[in-house]
Amino acid sequence: MTRRASRLPQIPDPIASLIDERLSGARCAGKSPLFDAELDDETSEERSERLSWARGQCTRCPVQGPCRTAGSEQERPLGVWAGRIHGQPGRPHLEETHA
Ligand code: SF4
Repeated sequence: MTRRASRLPQIPDPIASLIDERLSGARCAGKSPLFDAELDDETSEERSERLSWARGQCTRCPVQGPCRTAGSEQERPLGVWAGRIHGQPGRPHLEETHA
């Protein structure tokens, strides 16, 4: 390691594991709360409208395929992955839909 590199902040392992290079260029980057299954103080109408918007972003996302793969690798995916909503109130998680 060079002296310059040793002065750079180190990313803790739990945070580093959240970064997936396959999703570079994702349309949801930096907008994660808008892709959550539910938000506090949100009406069902607002949730439906927000998730519809999020799914629309997925249809134009350049990494939708890799996102689908990454979502299938999650133990319990939550929120919108590749246009599918997981963990929405009253709906099963991905692995439960394939049981
Ligand atoms: S397909 Fe949707 S959820 Fe997946 S990376 Fe793209 S915008 Fe995000």
